[in-house]
Amino acid sequence: MSQNFSGSLFVVAAPSGAGKSTLVNALLAQEPAIKLSISTTTRQPRPGEEHGREYFFDSADSFVKRAAEGEFLEWAEVHGNYYGTSRVTVEEHMKAGTDILLEIDWQGARQVKALFPTAAFIFILPPSIAALEERLHKRGTDEPHIITKRLLAAGGEIAHAPEFDYVIINENFNVALEEMRSIVRATRCRFAQQMARNASLFAQLGIHAQQAL
Ligand code: GDP
Ligand code: ADP
Ligand code: 5GP
Repeated sequence: MSQNFSGSLFVVAAPSGAGKSTLVNALLAQEPAIKLSISTTTRQPRPGEEHGREYFFDSADSFVKRAAEGEFLEWAEVHGNYYGTSRVTVEEHMKAGTDILLEIDWQGARQVKALFPTAAFIFILPPSIAALEERLHKRGTDEPHIITKRLLAAGGEIAHAPEFDYVIINENFNVALEEMRSIVRATRCRFAQQMARNASLFAQLGIHAQQAL
């Protein structure tokens, strides 16, 4: 992350149906200072999804062209569709010192880690595969063959959980939400973030640089 970025970058991944979007939306309702990065995707909008709210929807041809032009900070093919994070949006929020949250898959998280190794990487697990399947059916947004595809991909996504800093098991929703908030608060108290936000206090107190313990 840029040296004096006073905000925090959160990266959240999960297998489809683990409750990632529901948890993130509840977190953002409680922590409105965090800005959600709206990804661009080539998948079809689900009923009720709006261009510019859940995603920016685009064609595959256009996405590939934009990716080649470097428009995305990271991008990946997930469940047969392309998904990407806007580079400009993330950079603008960073310049403004705003906390940013990315809801992306493990391939994207890996790309972000290479760019910003000190970001907070959070993985959400379902309490069981049976619960994942039940949640995907209950959500009622995907055709049965799409649900099967996502369940088959879940093991592959979960296999990357060890690459993340934090793991939340989304069994009891409110417990999981509290854990997300705890991670947000702890991340904001990291030395580098505190020093960037409170530069003059740190200088007054004679704290000039980060020292290794
Ligand atoms: P969900 O799994 O039910 O949330 O379904 P979505 O279609 O919303 O997302 C499909 C996958 O794409 C998930 O793994 C997301 O985390 C991932 N994804 C969404 N946006 C992005 C993005 O901008 N970049 C990357 N790399 N992955 C994304
Ligand atoms: P994701 O974004 O990870 O694909 P969603 O946030 O869409 O998952 O959640 C999938 C479904 O599971 C939704 O219908 C949501 O209401 C439900 N859900 C989320 N968390 C829980 C939980 N702790 N217990 C039961 N159902 C949940
Ligand atoms: P869905 O199609 O169910 O909305 O999302 C499926 C998967 O795509 C989720 O795991 C989600 O995290 C991932 N995804 C969404 N946006 C992005 C993105 O911008 N980049 C990457 N790499 N993955 C994304």
